[in-house]
Amino acid sequence: MKDDVSQIQSVGPRAVEQLEAMGIKTVEQLLEHFPFRYEDYAIRPIHEAQHDERVTIRGIVHSEPTLRFYGKNKARLTVRVLVDGLLVQAVFFNQSYLKKQINLGDTITINGKFDRNRLMISGGTIKTAKNSQAGELEPVYSIRGNLKMTTLRKFINNAFQQYGDQIEETLPEQLINMYRLMNRQETFRQLHFPTSATQLVQAKRRMIYEELLLFQLKMQMFRKWERQGDEGQQKVFSIDKVKGFVQDLPFELTQAQKKVLKEILDDLQGPHRMNRLLQGDVGSGKTVVAGCALYANALAGFQGALMVPTEILAEQHKASLQDLLAPLQLRVELLSGSARVKERREILAGLVNGEIDVLIGTHALIQEGVDFKKLGLVITDEQHRFGVEQRRILRKKGLRPDVLFMTATPIPRTLAISAFGDMDVSVINEMPKGRKPVETRWGKPDMLPRVIDFMKRELGKGYQGYVICPLIEESEKLDVQNAIDVHQQLTQAMPEYRVGLMHGRLSSEEKDDVMNQFAENSVNLLVSTTVVEVGVNVPNATVMVIYDAERFGLAQLHQLRGRVGRGQAQSYCILLADPKSDVGKERMKIMTDTNDGFELSERDLELRGPGDFFGAKQSGLPNFKVADIVEDFRVLEVARQDANKLVNSEAFWKSEDYGKLRDRLREQGAFQGEKLD
Ligand code: ADP
Ligand code: MG
Repeated sequence: MKDDVSQIQSVGPRAVEQLEAMGIKTVEQLLEHFPFRYEDYAIRPIHEAQHDERVTIRGIVHSEPTLRFYGKNKARLTVRVLVDGLLVQAVFFNQSYLKKQINLGDTITINGKFDRNRLMISGGTIKTAKNSQAGELEPVYSIRGNLKMTTLRKFINNAFQQYGDQIEETLPEQLINMYRLMNRQETFRQLHFPTSATQLVQAKRRMIYEELLLFQLKMQMFRKWERQGDEGQQKVFSIDKVKGFVQDLPFELTQAQKKVLKEILDDLQGPHRMNRLLQGDVGSGKTVVAGCALYANALAGFQGALMVPTEILAEQHKASLQDLLAPLQLRVELLSGSARVKERREILAGLVNGEIDVLIGTHALIQEGVDFKKLGLVITDEQHRFGVEQRRILRKKGLRPDVLFMTATPIPRTLAISAFGDMDVSVINEMPKGRKPVETRWGKPDMLPRVIDFMKRELGKGYQGYVICPLIEESEKLDVQNAIDVHQQLTQAMPEYRVGLMHGRLSSEEKDDVMNQFAENSVNLLVSTTVVEVGVNVPNATVMVIYDAERFGLAQLHQLRGRVGRGQAQSYCILLADPKSDVGKERMKIMTDTNDGFELSERDLELRGPGDFFGAKQSGLPNFKVADIVEDFRVLEVARQDANKLVNSEAFWKSEDYGKLRDRLREQGAFQGEKLD
């Protein structure tokens, strides 16, 4: 199986290159290149065919085929076919050579997409005796370059003839029996050369389970090791003091905040390193929980760091944490990218000698040249990518602080247990008392004059608002220009109010100025690019207007909406958008339908698929060959439980029954703990 693909019959040097370009070097890799779908060539009665479904029909050619050329090198071939007493129009694009194969009165078999309303089958292929020896279910593989599908099928067929016997069972008998799984060799055979739809279903079922089980095993092995190597840093602090701190807050914590805080404090006191994900919708009050944790950490004699994605947010957090912690004689500092050399040197010195208790900043905070005396806790806010890169940096520095990830991008449960399967998860699923859900409206851009009137009314009551300008991909310059234009327009439209402008091109002092003015309501309306996206907290703001809202993803829209609805007053979010695509329209509709970040993210996931959810790179998810973590969510859950039992059993680590499974995991690097950092 580890042989080079060149060992396979009829695979020549050119084919070797073509396969390599697809990441296939060994026989095993070729055999694991499973089809991504199957063409169903089983003929079905036409009245059973659904609209827009791919179907195969058989009928009699009822008209001479007509060929029409249009555009540049485009051809459309049309023919009428009598199928089960119905006259169906068959359309083929750019396959003019088919004309010769179609003769009046012939019986032909056509596969294509069926349009029920127009009785039309299109985009299809014709099946003749010559090209349909493959059986009723024909595998469709992803291919690249100029490798042909039929050639690839031949290679896989040959590979299976030569090496099929070497496909070994890897799952232990106990699991095979328990779930009545198809054996591995038969599974490969059925995936490549299905004999029937039922057999194929069984083969997929087995492969999905295998993939997800291996994935979960790796994850949980890793987690187990991490825990084992994590003694030490047990934090000792007075719970009474933390309670006192909570009691002195100007509000009572919600039940959810209390519960989460307890989980975090338990982690800090416990013998293991904390590795916890804290999810809570925008405005649910994560910052104050972070503050409590930092306080407890400081009581135990450790320093803490809070990492945020933007400088504006860093400023905000500094202000609110200073309010919370300075009265308790804790020194909170900000390490800003724009700090003067002298200032920076002072801060770095304060970190090394332990005078600074809490440091806030962007990711630069844990990088080269920043050394702590005794770092005990790192909290990250809205930093999805923190996981991989930064944890490695921390480890390289020999630091193993407790780590808390806070996010308001609700991660659907499905993804949370897969992508963050090595973490504990806490959820704040409750809003502070007295919050009113934000009312969200969607209007076409020509509603702008009415929207301006509406904004004026809210400003007239003493409230404030945001106007967010479109994000134009990869063009910060245009973003800024947009904000500048809109700012000018609104300044003219409402001379009686002060309209501020905020964008990424401003210096940090200018940004500070604008933000401060907005915070104290000397600026009434803030026109901004998405720099205000996360975390900004001005409870007096009640209107959020988003221009060209279709350019934003759902998660981002929800984040932006979260900037309002933070006080007692009713707040509004107005989406100005004229989406062209159905997905765009659906997004606007979802925004107006729900205020619940978790529901929204589940629907977002349905809309986009998991790969897109974090952006493929960030997701940390492996590329499954057959499994789909959304569709196969139930199997994932089963696999997770099984993996958990296995990892905690003696047999898994020692018994011969699990030898092959261990070999496979070893092969994939699981025993080095390399993966899923
Ligand atoms: P998040 O970071 O989760 O989006 P914040 O921590 O910024 O939310 O909290 C939003 C606002 O709610 C802040 O003004 C904060 O002081 C306030 N807040 C937090 N917890 C409570 C609570 N239990 N009761 C009332 N207000 C709260
Ligand atoms: Mg926040």
